[in-house]
Amino acid sequence: MSNESLANLLKEERRFEPPAELAAHANVTAQAYARAEADRLGFWAEQAERLSWTTTPRQTLDWSNPPFATWFADGELNVAHNCVDRHVHAGLGDRVAIHFEGEPGDTRTLTYAQLQTEVARAAHTLTALGVHPGDRVAIYMPMIPETVVAMLACARIGAPHSVVFGGFSADALATRITDADARVVITADGGYRRGKPSALKPAVDEALTRPGTENVRNVLVVRRTGQEVAWTKDRDIWWHQALDAQPHQHTAQPFPAEHPLFILYTSGTTGRPKGILHTSGGYLTQTAYTHHAVFDLKPDTDVYWCTADVGWVTGHSYIVYGPLANAATQVIYEGTPDTPHQGRFWEIIEKYKVTILYTAPTAIRTFMKWGEHIPAQHDLSSLRLLGSVGEPINPEAWMWYRRHIGADRCPIVDTWWQTETGAMMISPLPGVTPTKPGSAQTPLPGIAATVVDDTGTEVPHGHGGYLVLTQPWPSMLRTIWGDDQRYRETYWSRFTDRYFAGDGAKKDDDGDIWLLGRVDDVMLVSGHNISTTEVESALVSHPKIAEAAVVGANDPTTGQAIVAFVILRGTATETDTLTHDLRTHVAHTLGPIAKP
Ligand code: AMP
Repeated sequence: MSNESLANLLKEERRFEPPAELAAHANVTAQAYARAEADRLGFWAEQAERLSWTTTPRQTLDWSNPPFATWFADGELNVAHNCVDRHVHAGLGDRVAIHFEGEPGDTRTLTYAQLQTEVARAAHTLTALGVHPGDRVAIYMPMIPETVVAMLACARIGAPHSVVFGGFSADALATRITDADARVVITADGGYRRGKPSALKPAVDEALTRPGTENVRNVLVVRRTGQEVAWTKDRDIWWHQALDAQPHQHTAQPFPAEHPLFILYTSGTTGRPKGILHTSGGYLTQTAYTHHAVFDLKPDTDVYWCTADVGWVTGHSYIVYGPLANAATQVIYEGTPDTPHQGRFWEIIEKYKVTILYTAPTAIRTFMKWGEHIPAQHDLSSLRLLGSVGEPINPEAWMWYRRHIGADRCPIVDTWWQTETGAMMISPLPGVTPTKPGSAQTPLPGIAATVVDDTGTEVPHGHGGYLVLTQPWPSMLRTIWGDDQRYRETYWSRFTDRYFAGDGAKKDDDGDIWLLGRVDDVMLVSGHNISTTEVESALVSHPKIAEAAVVGANDPTTGQAIVAFVILRGTATETDTLTHDLRTHVAHTLGPIAKP
């Protein structure tokens, strides 16, 4: 598409009607908005019926002690049973749960029945290691099926997991292990990235030398790459050996709906990351519902692919819990989009006949840069729906995605949500909403969001301000792990009785919501949250740095890029080597994604 025709298209303020065929058979119709509007809690109570409960909840929301909510609190369920066993019991044991594509090209298929056995063996393993309900397990893994198995095994025995993105450094891992007081770490020797094995175990070994990590009793190690690993006797255990010693059946015990499911750390406006706590029943209800509604998932025929890493919330909610609760068939890809060539994603879509693709604007802009001739070499005709998440999608990228990936036929759902919200909050519905390039548009049924000005007054159509959520929702964070006060202050103090998301937003003349990026000191680099303070603290921990100031600058591909200004100490002098050292130092302290 030439720039001129693109500019014209955007100027026309075009809307794209839902495809007639999709709208005719859509899982969710416009009636859902009316239903939720008439009785919001009744609507969510109905959605909870998607799950299988050992004790059916009678109570929906308890908001008598804001901002601490409980949802479905008198209900009991087992999350792993809901994501795996019940599908097997329903006769879907032979359905593929995961098509795994390793970066080197190795593949594995896991059916729901096989997933059930793996989760059972892993659950027994954790119990044999003395992990009790409520104990925390840290997971530091590549994108392989065992990661999903590990998470589900934790859920099955009621041990909250804390998944730490595999790109984080040993220091960042240690901070998170300490904060959650984890008892076991599950990791791998490494994973494949950019054509070669990339080690993970050494970072775990290093992290476990740090004070505060002493309570980690065992490290379970998956063998993925076969690379050499250092071994600490009596602490380290091979995953495959441990699982082989365990029975293939496991009886799932029910837990209360408010039992903690996981902690996931996200950057805050101070240097210390926040452990976002999610619980079981409400979280699973909303992830399952939104996955069904927003992706219009037809579990019998769709092949779904979310390209996020499981270390981020998108991987938790839309690789593990939402899709598996819905008995979806999905693709999991281990590696980078340009290994061994820039057409890898499109090759995967062609190979597995992917019908629903969920990816990030940064990836789309990267594909734009590589050129449309690359996807054009592949048959993408299986696709029927496209999703976007992680950062605002600019209209140019939206149009490119629609045209060159979606062949002008697939609707695009731009889904706004955060680690804290647990599940999608603002998004078009593919069978209902005429979409607008660049806008997330409408709060989903059962969700209440608006835009307010500095004083907390709702802005009229056509005006901008801050995004707030005005009613509690089932998959909301329950607190910040170990810090109720920080939870109150961060999210509930800026505007009375409303949740402050930290995002700028505007309402257009139709009342549709456009997200404008963060308004706090959090940068969005390739859709990843990084706080300016965190990078500043990392810089001043370098012996040659006296002071540092960090800002996010616009970047055409990654959305924002990190720019650092530093003042050197005493006799230190500015050299190219020092600049390089500082970048490496930050990468070592926080992880390569945080490099200025
Ligand atoms: P995280 O908690 O790491 O998933 O990051 C959440 C943040 O990413 C949000 O607060 C937004 O700033 C941004 N974000 C996520 N999805 C979207 C979207 N569809 N449009 C605009 N911003 C988004």
